[in-house]
Amino acid sequence: AKGGGRGQYRFYSSELKDGAKFRRMLEEDLRDALHKDELVMHYQPIVKAKDYKLSGFEALIRWDHPERGFVPPDVFISCAEDIGMISEIGEWALRKVCEQAQQWPVELRVAVNVSPTQFANDDFVAVVQRALQSSGLAPNRLELEITESVFAGDEEQTLKIFHALKDLGVRLALDDFGTGYSSMSYLRHAPFDKIKIDQSFVRGSTEEGNNNSAIISAIVSLARALKMETVAEGTETKDELELVIKRGASHIQGYIFSRPITHEEALERLDKGELV
Ligand code: C2E
Ligand code: CA
Ligand code: CA
Ligand code: CA
Repeated sequence: AKGGGRGQYRFYSSELKDGAKFRRMLEEDLRDALHKDELVMHYQPIVKAKDYKLSGFEALIRWDHPERGFVPPDVFISCAEDIGMISEIGEWALRKVCEQAQQWPVELRVAVNVSPTQFANDDFVAVVQRALQSSGLAPNRLELEITESVFAGDEEQTLKIFHALKDLGVRLALDDFGTGYSSMSYLRHAPFDKIKIDQSFVRGSTEEGNNNSAIISAIVSLARALKMETVAEGTETKDELELVIKRGASHIQGYIFSRPITHEEALERLDKGELV
């Protein structure tokens, strides 16, 4: 059911607006989705700004619903949170991604999104460790993408978990930077390897009348001072690409290079050397 993307997204968005009934239906189905093998991971290339060579992929979850078609994560992840399934789905995703990345012919990085709820679970570090062990994936190939909203919780506890994750050898990326929690004090101690510049800053950065381009520059210099990499997310056009490169982003992700692709397609393109 993939490929029908955009139209179906609108269908879901408008249906969602009229309410609770649709959502309950979705929730019912979601409970079975995992066991019915309806969840899949897609992979979007992330390239290095210096030579446009492939650096790795971000894993993005999709629900291939038998009747409803493709349900985007923005819709069902919040459902999963509500019905208490997010940790189960998150653990499945971590295992799946580690297994699939281990099959790639090149030792590239792979980034996995972690929801704040999943992160707050007592056993999160153990879950990551198990996914690494059972797949055999080298820890430094795994990057966890975490949004700044995790710092709305207990900061000391959050930092402890970050350091435990770094001790496992995995990398940490700060996702959607600049869109959420408004304090930057957590950056003083948090061991991030990478900051992801939210696509809302990239979008429109080439137009007059907004501060996006200046904000991108500021994020890049902050990241550099902290010895962190930067990814310009959602780079769609040539002009945006030129701009984020001029502003010094170290990595680029967006439709200008590739949309998210299936694991099979990633394998095929890696085998042919098309992506690297
Ligand atoms: P995100 O982490 O900010 O992921 C980037 C989103 O931007 C993805 O949407 C990606 O397909 C989209 N994107 C990438 N390049 C472009 C571009 O050039 N233009 C435009 N317009 N969009 C672009 P997607 O896959 O629909 O995911 C939406 C959100 O759902 C993600 O935002 C993330 O917050 C969440 N999500 C996705 N997969 C997972 C997962 O496995 N676990 C959790 N907890 N959340 C996930
Ligand atoms: Ca992300
Ligand atoms: Ca993001
Ligand atoms: Ca986002």
